[in-house]
Amino acid sequence: MGVSPSASDQRLTTMSQAIDSRPAPSEANPFHIAQRQFDEAAEYLDLEPALRELLRWPRREYKFTIPVRMDGGGTRVFHGYRVQYNDALGPTKGGLRWHPEETLDTVRALAAWMTWKTAVMDIPLGGGKGGVTCNPKELSEGERERLARGWMRVMARELGEHRDVPAPDVYTNPRIMAWMMDEYEVITGRSHPAVITGKPLVVGGSVGRDDATARGGVLCVREACRRTKVNPRGTYAIQGFGNAGQYAALLHEDILGGGKLVAVSDTSAALHNPDGFDPRETVDYKLRNGHLAGLPGSREISSDELLALDVDVLYPSALENVITETNAGDIKARIICELANGPTTPEADEILNRAGVHVIPDFLANAGGVTVSYFEQVQGTYNYYWTLDKVHRELEANMVNAYRAVCKMHDEQQVHMRMAAYLVAVARVAEAVKIRGWV
Ligand code: NAD
Repeated sequence: MGVSPSASDQRLTTMSQAIDSRPAPSEANPFHIAQRQFDEAAEYLDLEPALRELLRWPRREYKFTIPVRMDGGGTRVFHGYRVQYNDALGPTKGGLRWHPEETLDTVRALAAWMTWKTAVMDIPLGGGKGGVTCNPKELSEGERERLARGWMRVMARELGEHRDVPAPDVYTNPRIMAWMMDEYEVITGRSHPAVITGKPLVVGGSVGRDDATARGGVLCVREACRRTKVNPRGTYAIQGFGNAGQYAALLHEDILGGGKLVAVSDTSAALHNPDGFDPRETVDYKLRNGHLAGLPGSREISSDELLALDVDVLYPSALENVITETNAGDIKARIICELANGPTTPEADEILNRAGVHVIPDFLANAGGVTVSYFEQVQGTYNYYWTLDKVHRELEANMVNAYRAVCKMHDEQQVHMRMAAYLVAVARVAEAVKIRGWV
């Protein structure tokens, strides 16, 4: 499985041939995309066929029905899922999404990506994901509670701090995690705070979870400035001003010792101020008004103009596929920290790499959240809770080590940062599979 730099070009050629000879995957199917990304890394690492076949599929998946008694009388049947993609490195871990368009394939893809995310962070967990096809906005609080407890009743036997640990994701929240933990404890008759993470503090949540995703990304940016000699007190722009974007604005200057926030955007507007926005006032304005439009001292620009600003650091923190073949050539940022999932298309990655832009790929840049979720699991298992200072110190050590491991692979193999992150992650899972004697 070792990768010889001298063989890298030849392997890349073989990789393209191997990939091109397969039937084209449906680009709309996220699991096909996840498999294709894995296939590229597997080809590069020259993994043997059985190991490849094992890692390109989930180890276990559950698809089931959840009957829920509705407030107006009668019962509605929901479809639920849990995919335990790979547990060679440890118990599987990953969020629960409640979404009208949830399918088994979206859950499979997200479970695969969780596997690579925990592996690149070198935390002793595998990857999983779960969900329910539903529109939670149409459900009352009582219906949501019965759905959460119903999901747990079906899955309880397959979960546990040493098996599989869910967490919140799209349209699920700490309250739902508390109901699920409670149902699990009713079923097992014991206390199990580590069976699920993202819980409210009063029932075993961890301090430091709120800003963990942004904190992890900004710590990578600090390391990236040192590595690339970019001015850490330079300019930065943030696309998307929700949980991840707002915390990035607040933490950037703290962690880097300065900096000037020159542009921000949300769905209401993209705004520019070359003299710099005050991050605290900008967050307060957004919280007070629910949007950024009308922020004093700003000039409205287009979304593409924001991405093309001449800044030291750009944080895409909103959506997938915003940096594409069409606009990647206009990007002037020296460092891109992908707090959002999937903001850069594969074609854009190549363009950015050729232009020397340092990209911190999503599953490294936004892994602070799952890392603090792991800390919550550890604290719950010991039933002993850490101080905020300890959470911050542990997170910093994990992020810095992961960032450096990816940079080392990037330097040694001369691949772009996203491929380097895949190589680190897939190699770790593959090694664990082999050492266990699965193949
Ligand atoms: P959020 O819903 O709190 O915020 C999203 C923000 O993006 C909102 O301000 C919204 O107005 C803005 N937005 C949406 N479309 C936009 C557009 N076209 N242009 C500009 N802004 C736009 O979500 P979040 O939790 O901050 O997540 C943002 C991204 O980070 C997602 O890709 C998510 O998967 C990823 N992420 C978040 C976490 C986390 O812990 N919050 C963890 C891992 C990954």
